[in-house]
Amino acid sequence: MEKRKISIIGSTGSIGTQALEVIDKLRDKFEIIALAGGHNVELLNRQAEKFKPKYTCLGEEGLERICSDKDNDIILVACSGKIGLKPTLTAIKNGIDIALANKETLVMAGDIVMAEAKKYGVNIVPVDSEHCAIHQCIKNVNQVDKLIITASGGPFLHKSVEEMKNSTVEEALAHPRWNMGKKITVDSATLMNKGLEVIEAHHLFGFDYDDIEVVVHPQSIVHSAIEYKDGSVIAQLGLPSMHIPIQYAITYPERYEGIKSKSFSFAEIARLDFEKPDFEKFPTVKLAYEMGKTGGTATVCMNAANEEAVFAFLNGKIKLYNIYEITKKMCDEHKVIQNPSIDEIFETDKEIRIKSQEVISNVRF
Ligand code: MG
Repeated sequence: MEKRKISIIGSTGSIGTQALEVIDKLRDKFEIIALAGGHNVELLNRQAEKFKPKYTCLGEEGLERICSDKDNDIILVACSGKIGLKPTLTAIKNGIDIALANKETLVMAGDIVMAEAKKYGVNIVPVDSEHCAIHQCIKNVNQVDKLIITASGGPFLHKSVEEMKNSTVEEALAHPRWNMGKKITVDSATLMNKGLEVIEAHHLFGFDYDDIEVVVHPQSIVHSAIEYKDGSVIAQLGLPSMHIPIQYAITYPERYEGIKSKSFSFAEIARLDFEKPDFEKFPTVKLAYEMGKTGGTATVCMNAANEEAVFAFLNGKIKLYNIYEITKKMCDEHKVIQNPSIDEIFETDKEIRIKSQEVISNVRF
C-alpha cells in the first residue's frame, strides 16, 4: 500500500504529540508532509528532526500554505480554538480529507464546513472520542433514532456546588480520566466540553438536538452509543486513551494494531456506571443545547465568550463559576445572525471576545 501523506496542524499540542506517537508505530503507513506548531519551537524542531517532514511552520501564517498543498491526502487539525476553522476550510476546498480534533471548527461554522465537505467530496473523520465512537457505530444513518454521548463528568461530578465554585485552577485541571490540553480540561470541569460536543455531533451526523442525549459515565469506557429505530443500541468501548481515536481517524477506513498496548478486558473493568447529567449544577450543557437550537451566530458567541472566560480563569482573573456567568450574559445580549457568512462568523467572534474581555476586567471577587 502507498503511504498516506499527512500534515498535522498543532503538532506540538496534546493531540498532535499523541498523533506522532501513533505515526511512529506506523512509519510504513505514513509520510509526513508538514508539521505546524503553536509556539513551542524547540519541540517542533525535535519533531522535525525525528519525522523529517517536507516543511514545518510556526504560528498561524503557514497554515494556509499547508492546507492548500495538494500533496496531502489527509490533514489532522489538532490545534485548539478558532484558528482551526480557516485552514480546515482551505483543506476541504483542495479536496484533502480531514481528521478533525478541533471542535470549535464545527461549533463556529458547522453548517458551512459540512456543506463544503459534501460539495468537495471530502471525508471528515472525528478524533473527538465521543464522535469517533459514533462514527464507528453508524452504518446506515437513516436507521438511527438517537445519538447517546457519554460524559465522564469531570473532576467536580460528585463535589458540592460550593467546592466547584471555589475551585482552584489546579483542581479544575485535575481531570480524573483524560489527559488533555488546558482549555479542554477546564471545559470538561464545567461540562461546557459536553455542550460543545452536542453541537459538534449535530453537525457531523445531521441529528436534531432533541435526538442527541448526554449521559454521565464516570469510567469513560463506553465512548458513546447510538440507538437504532428498533431499539437496538450499539456502543463503542475502549480504554480511555486518545491514541485510539487519533489512530482511527488518520488511518480510516483501515485498522492497524499500531499503538495498541493491551487487550480489553470486561472482567478487569468489572463495572460500568451511568447517571443523568445534573443540568442545574452544570448549566453549560443546557446553554449549549439552547444556542445550538437557536443556530446562526449563537454558537459562535457562546464559544468565543467561553474561550475568553476559560483563559481568564486559567490566568487567575476570575473564578470557575464566572465562566458560565460571562458566557450566559454574552449569549443573552447577542443579536443572532442567521445563516452567517464566514466573515460574519469571524466578526461575531471578534466582537464577542472584546465584549467578554470588558466584562472580565470588571469581575470582582
Ligand atoms: Mg470528547
